[in-house]
This record gives sequence, C-alpha cells and structure tokens, in this order.
Amino acid sequence: MSHKLYKNLIGGHSVASHTGKTFLNMNPANSDDIVGEFQSSAAKDIDDAVNAAEQAWKSWRLTPAPKRAEILYRTGELLTQRKEQYARDMTREMGKVLSETRGDVQEAIDTAYYMAGEGRRLFGQTTPSELKSKFAMSVRMPVGVVGMIAPWNFPMAIPSWKLFPALVCGNTCVIKPAEDTPLSTYNLVECLIEAGLPAGVVNVVTGFGPDAGAPIVSHPGVRAVSFTGSSEVGRIVGQTAAANFKPCSLEMGGKNAMIVLDDANLDLAVEGALWGAFGTTGQRCTATSRIIVHQKIAAEFTKKLVARADALKVGDGLDEHTQMGPQVNQQQIETSIRYTEIAQKEGAHLLTGGSVLEDGVYDKGHFFAPTVFGAVKPKMRIAQEEVFGPVVSLIEVDSFEESLEVANGIQYGLSTALYSRDVNKAFQAMRDLEAGITYINAPTIGAEVHLPFGGVKQTGNGHREGGTGALDFYTTWKSLYIDYSDK
Ligand code: GLU
Repeated sequence: MSHKLYKNLIGGHSVASHTGKTFLNMNPANSDDIVGEFQSSAAKDIDDAVNAAEQAWKSWRLTPAPKRAEILYRTGELLTQRKEQYARDMTREMGKVLSETRGDVQEAIDTAYYMAGEGRRLFGQTTPSELKSKFAMSVRMPVGVVGMIAPWNFPMAIPSWKLFPALVCGNTCVIKPAEDTPLSTYNLVECLIEAGLPAGVVNVVTGFGPDAGAPIVSHPGVRAVSFTGSSEVGRIVGQTAAANFKPCSLEMGGKNAMIVLDDANLDLAVEGALWGAFGTTGQRCTATSRIIVHQKIAAEFTKKLVARADALKVGDGLDEHTQMGPQVNQQQIETSIRYTEIAQKEGAHLLTGGSVLEDGVYDKGHFFAPTVFGAVKPKMRIAQEEVFGPVVSLIEVDSFEESLEVANGIQYGLSTALYSRDVNKAFQAMRDLEAGITYINAPTIGAEVHLPFGGVKQTGNGHREGGTGALDFYTTWKSLYIDYSDK
C-alpha cells in the first residue's frame, strides 16, 4: 500500500530535513498499515524553524488579540467539519478506539473556542499608585517563540492545549509532535493555516527526542518550552531549560488513585474503574492505576471489576465494536510485561490478563490483555511506579483515613477520585488528596479544557494547561507607570 510523505512545515513551506532521513508512522493495530512517512529532523532543521518563528513573531505579536482569536474560532469550525476523518486518522496512528479519538478531536475544538474567547479578555490590572498624578497598570505580553514537545496519547488535544493559548497570547511556535503520532498535529495545523494563520507562526518539525526535541529546548531563540511526556525525559528537559533560565512547563507522570468507600454506589464505581483503568488502553497520565477499596466491599467490587475487564472487547480501534485498542508500540507492551512480572514477584495476585494477545486477529498489532492485580500493598513497585498500560492494582484498606494516606503515599500527584455517598467525606477528600485534580463519584480521567490541568509533587513543576492557568505560562507580565503631573 502506498503512503504519503510529509515534510516539515517551516515558515509556510513544506521542506525536507537536512538529515535526508525519514521514519515511518505505523498503525499499532496492524503492522501492514503504514500511516505516513515523516522527516527525521535534527538541530539544523530546528534552527530554521526557530528563525522562521522569530521572523513571524514581529507582526504576530502586533496583531490584535481579538483578531488572533478569530483564527482560532475558524479553526474550531474547520475541526468540527473534519472531526470524523481526523478521528479515524488518529485511531490509525495511535490505536485508541474511535469513540475516544472523536473525543480527542472534540477537546481540540473546545480548546479552540475557549481560547478564542480569551482573545477578548486577556485582562491585566490597574492599581492605585503610591504617588499622585501617576497611573499604574499591568498588561500581559507574549513571551516570543515557544518550543513545544507533545506526547502521543492525546495526539490532537494536547497539541491544542499548547498551541491555542500560545497563539492567542501572541506567541509563535515550533512544535515537535511525538514520533508515534505526527499526523494528528499536521491535521490540526492544516486547519489553523486554512483559518488564516500567517506563515511561520506555527512551525512543525518531526523527529525523535534526542535529535529533534533536545535542540528545541536548548535553542537560544526559544524563550519558553512546554513539554508533556515521561518523567525521565521531563527531568532532562527541565534541567536544560533551567540551565538556560528558560520558563518550562512540565506535565509528566501519574499513579492515580480511585478510592471506593463502603457506602459507594458499587456499580457506578465499577463502571468508573473500568474506563479509568482501561480507557485509552491505560495510556493516560490520568489513568486510574490504583483502586483503594474498603475491605467491607472489596470482594464484591473485585468480582464485578474482573468480570467486566474479562468481557472487554479488545481489538482494532477502527471497529466500532472494539472497547479497548492496542498499545501504541512494542516498547509500551514490554513495559506492561515487565510490570506484570514485577508485581507477581512482589506477591500481588494476578486476577485477570497479564499477557500479550498475539493469536489470530491480534497477530499484527501490539495488544495486551486488560490486567487486574489483587492483594497489592501500597509500597509495592506496581503501586508506586507508572506503567502507562492496561494494568490496574487493587489495594484494600480498613478506613477512610487509611485510604487517604495510601492515596497520598506516592511521588506523583495528578488525578484522584473518591466514590462515596457521604458529602462530608467528599469535601474532606477534596481538601486532603494531594493532587492537581480530584473527582467525586467519577473516575480519574476526563478533564475539561476550562479548568487548569496539571499536578503537584513529581507530576509537574507547578504550571497548568487549560483554563486561564495556561495564559500565565504563555504571557509575561509587564508593569506600566504613566506620570501625568506635567511638571
Ligand atoms: N485529558 C486526559 C484526561 O483527563 C488526560 C491527558 C493525559 O493523559 O495526558 O483523562
């Protein structure tokens, strides 16, 4: 089957990498299906992209914010028209099921409209001066060229969380999509360009982290960096940015806990646990990976969850009946295998799954069975380290207090959930769970674009995507003093 060759998008031109090398983007459900061929870029390509973004910034920063917002609004309309095609492209390149990739495109649409609205706000402050005849105010200024390194699990939503606020705030961008999912970024940027985005305002450069990502972070022309991905890479990105005194937004791992108390609506909790753990094949930084369940209801809850996990229809995400797609690549499969072994050695009980699916319909893809571990203790590695696959651990506790302690006893702090009918406990959990996000009677997934997204502890470095929190990263405050005493 023939496939399309994609080139970098720099200064409004489609250009081949200086390296002369390319890589193939494969469908993780079907190794016969090549989604596209993309440039393997390196430092010289990044340099060209940053130069183009610097040029474009000269006029983009002066374009009135409501005009920048109109482009986002039109982008939202174009994405809406093309939603189905883009969802199918996304399922082909990363595997998650169609209902979820439609949701991913929808999130980009929501972000476009939300950030378009911000173009008519972008409020500053006025404040009384200490001195008479003096006027004092602060305004949000764009930062300049922003470098963006995006992950593969939300291939359109997460680039939109980065690009749209950056653009409405008046920045220009160099974005490197994940090597597993570049097509969705091209689709997103195609809409921006058709909506009227001037050449060079967004530049897309594809390639691998060490060759194409690292030079974005260290380039002197890049004034700020936004990264979403693994803690391992995030640490390097953060250190490089810090060495260059560059603002850097890091959004990394999670080991998200769902607490199920003995007064919970059990069926609701099972439903939440199922999709929290196995939605996106467990490859979300918000995935439910620890279920902390009260011992009084643990047996019943476990039985119901295991039955539902067993019944999940795993397969090609392009089939509307599929409920869980493949993992994105072989490396992720290997991580799931490794943690299954680690958990068993630690003494956890494998209740279902734990194996690669490779026969018949599965032989051309990266499929791993929905996996549930019981008898997990809070300090086991399976309860502490991020797997990023369809693997969930059940931890039994005796009280609400103990459940909070276990939930907080990890290095991460992204998302949490509590299932209970007790409103007092709900409010206590909202206060005491150490996380950027807490859900009550809903799973740990499904953040909306209007609220800040991000975590505490080692999940990130304090910045937020989504909501007005994003504007704080993509603007810098400027204070203005006007003396009108005329003497
Ligand atoms: N939007 C996703 C959710 O709330 C999380 C994004 C991520 O996993 O990076 O489930």
